[in-house]
Parts: sequence; C-alpha cells; structure tokens
Amino acid sequence: MKSRNSFRSLIVLLTLDAFAFAQPPAVELRIHDYASLKPSTLRAVAIRVHQILSESGLSLQTRVCTADACESPSASARVLVLRIVRGTPPNMNDVRLSPMGESFADARGGTYASVFLKQVQQEAAEADVPWPTVLAYAAAHEVGHLLLGRAHSQRGLMKAYWDERDFRAMNQNCFHFGKEQVLQLARYRGISTATLAEDRHLAAGVGP
Ligand SMILES: [Zn+2]
Repeated sequence: MKSRNSFRSLIVLLTLDAFAFAQPPAVELRIHDYASLKPSTLRAVAIRVHQILSESGLSLQTRVCTADACESPSASARVLVLRIVRGTPPNMNDVRLSPMGESFADARGGTYASVFLKQVQQEAAEADVPWPTVLAYAAAHEVGHLLLGRAHSQRGLMKAYWDERDFRAMNQNCFHFGKEQVLQLARYRGISTATLAEDRHLAAGVGP
C-alpha cells in the first residue's frame, strides 16, 4: 500500500498549450482516485483525459489529487470534480447514469461526476481495447455532461451508447466531441462561437 506522502507526490498539473499560459484556464478538472490505480496508470489516464478535452479547444487545467482533497486553491473560474471509483454505479433516479459513469448534471451542466472502474474494465475487455483508454474516454464523456448538460449526440464521444466502431476509434485516437459540442465548449475558450466557427483549423481537427 502506498503511503499518503508518496501518493501526494502524484499531484500533477497539466495545462493546455500557449493559450492557457496567457490567461488562467477557464476550467480546472480535479481527478480523485478512489480505485487505487497504479501511479503510472493514473497519470497516463489523467494525461489522456486532458488531451481528449483539450483538443476540443477547451482552456483546461487538470489536476490529479489525493482521494480527499487538492491542496492548493484553484485559479480557475470553474472547478469540476471527477472521481474514479472501483465499484459499480448506485441506482439513483436523479442523476445522469450510464454503465461506465455518471454525472450530476442538469440541462446546463454540473460539477461532480464519477467513472466506475469495474464497469469500464468489463466493457474494455469485451471490446478488446486497453481499459485505461476506455476509462479516459468514459471520464471525458462525463466531464462533457458537466460542461454541456445532459444531452447526448448521435455520433462521437457524447453518444449515449458506444458500439464496436466507437471503441475501435478510441483505440486509434480518433474519437472526439462533435462539431456542435466544440462550438458549445467555445464559451470555455474565451472567444465567441462565431469566431470559433471561422476557425477552420479546429473544425478540421475534430470529427463529425
Ligand atoms: Zn452520457
């Protein structure tokens, strides 16, 4: 078992590109591991979640905290909390619930979400995809609900149910938010949606 001090050494800060250095990130994602993942696995999952969310244009800082708390205050306007837990989701009627994760979100979004390791590992094994990859995408999906609200999309990362083709796309790093969601996320990038719509480079980099 890892000591508390050695676990604290895991705290990492991941910040999005040069844009984020020019001003505080719009969103801070705090990842709390209640599933006792290996430090290297936890860090790899956090980096992947950060990459998935950041490629949508989100101005984001990601922290891996202890199970209990993050030690330093946030400089961001919006703090989101993601828990990685070992078990399966409780049966609750008033939360967003899916087999691999849940988020406490209404139509406008929310603050707290969880992903469930056992469910993720089962789905990943069936799809023959490494479970840390599936865990990262499940986490990004739930964080998507916190930022975008409860709605799902017909295609891409925010689909309600992922099929074999989606899992394959994850494994090939080509599973993304849709263009509509990228435009919605522009509010967390500090520019207008009109400006983002004209950003051909970004639109070209995000799947349908
Ligand atoms: Zn969902």
